[in-house]
Amino acid sequence: MERSVSQRLFAEAQNHIPGGVSSPVRAFRAVGGTPVFLVKGEGAYVFDADGNRYLDYVMSWGPLILGHAHPEVVARVKEVAEKGLTFGAPHPLEVALAQAVKRAYPGVDLVRFVSTGTEATMSAIRLARGYTGRKYVVKFRGNYHGHADGLLVEAGSGALTFGVPSSAGVPEEYARLTLVLEYNDPEGLRELLRARGEEIAAIIFEPVVGNAGVLVPTEEFLKALHEAQSHGVLLIADEVMTGFRLAFGGATERLGLKPDLITLGKILGGGLPAAAYAGRREILEKVAPLGPVYQAGTLSGNPLAMAAGLATLEILEGNPGAYAYLEALGARLEAGLKQVLSAKGIPHAVNRMGSMLTVFFTEGPVVTFQDAKRTDTELFKRFFHSLLDRGVYWPPSNFEAAFLSLAHTEEDVEKTLEAVEKAL
Ligand code: PMP
Repeated sequence: MERSVSQRLFAEAQNHIPGGVSSPVRAFRAVGGTPVFLVKGEGAYVFDADGNRYLDYVMSWGPLILGHAHPEVVARVKEVAEKGLTFGAPHPLEVALAQAVKRAYPGVDLVRFVSTGTEATMSAIRLARGYTGRKYVVKFRGNYHGHADGLLVEAGSGALTFGVPSSAGVPEEYARLTLVLEYNDPEGLRELLRARGEEIAAIIFEPVVGNAGVLVPTEEFLKALHEAQSHGVLLIADEVMTGFRLAFGGATERLGLKPDLITLGKILGGGLPAAAYAGRREILEKVAPLGPVYQAGTLSGNPLAMAAGLATLEILEGNPGAYAYLEALGARLEAGLKQVLSAKGIPHAVNRMGSMLTVFFTEGPVVTFQDAKRTDTELFKRFFHSLLDRGVYWPPSNFEAAFLSLAHTEEDVEKTLEAVEKAL
C-alpha cells in the first residue's frame, strides 16, 4: 500500500511538532512505522492523504459512535457556526445538552461543561476535595483519566500505595496525594478503606477500562467501590469513554452504579471538544459561582461542540435499537476473533463490553492490568501492520480499545475477520 504522502508529511511534521503529533499514541511508537495522516472520514471508513481507504476501529478514540461525518451532526454544526463560533456567554444549547445528560443519568442534578476529559476529571477531583475537605485520591493501575498532574501517577514500590509520578515534571509531593491500587482487587481496596478511609476525598475509576485495553470489572470490585461511600468517600465514575457508549446512560446504567460524580467527554461532544462533570446538586453547588471551588473556561460550553453533542445524543435517543445493534455487532466480532485465533492455536483473550473490545495475545482470563501486560506486544505489532496493509485501521497500541459505531455493518465485521485470518 502506497503511503508516500503520509511519510513525507510525517517527516515534515517532526520539524515543527514534538514527535510530529499533537497526542503521543498517534505517533505509532508502540507498533513502529509511519502514522497515516487521515484527511477524510465517511461512516465507518477513513481516507489517508495518499487516498487509501481504511475500515476504522479507532473512531477518533471513541467520540464517533454514529460514524464519521454523520450528515445530521455536520448540518447542525454548520447551522450554528454560521451564527458565530463562540461568545463566552451562556448559550441555549448548553441548557439543552445538560438536559440530555440528565435524561441519560437520572442521578444527576447539575452538569458543568468543560472542553476535554482531562479538565473534567481534574475539576471533579478538585470538587471532591473541596466538598469533603479531604486530601487523598485513589486511582487504579492502568486506568487513565487524562494528564492532570495528580493523575499521572503510578503505584509506588512495596506494600505502600503512595503514588509516584509517571511523568517527568510532576512533583513527588503531588503524586503522594494519589494512592494507587490494583483494578479488580476488592480486598486491596477494602484494606485501604479500613486503614485510611476517612482521609480519602474520592476514588476515581474507569467503570469499564478502555485505557489498559478493555478490562471488565468484577461484581465484587464494584461492590467494594460502593462500600467506600460509607466512609464519606466520593465515587467518581470516569465515563469519558463509556458514557453514551455502553448504554445511553453509560456504565452507570449498564452496571447499575451509584456514583457521586461522573465525568463525561468523547461522545458528549460528538467529535468536537466538549466534556463535563456532573452529579448531585449539593455537591455541584460547591462550584463557582455558587460555591468556593473555582473552575472556568474561555471555550467551555462552546456552541459548535454543544450542537455536535446534542445532535449525537438526540440521534442515539431516537434510535431505540442502537445499543442492541452495537452489542450484536460486538458479539459477532468477538466470536469471530476467538474462532480465528483458536484455529491458529494462538493464545488469546478477547475482552469486550458492548462496542469496546481488545484482543490480548496471552492466555486468559485478563482481569487486572498485570494480566493485560502479559500480552505479546511483538505479535500485536505484526497483527496491527498486517491489518493496516489490508485496509483495517486498528488502534496502534495493544493497550487501547477498538470501537464499533452504528455505521459499522455486519459485512464490515466479516471483512475484518477475513483480514485477521490472512494477517495471522
Ligand atoms: N478519562 C478517560 C476514561 C479517557 O479515556 C480519556 C481519554 N482517552 C480521558 C479521561 C481524557 O480525555 P481527554 O483526552 O479529552 O483529555
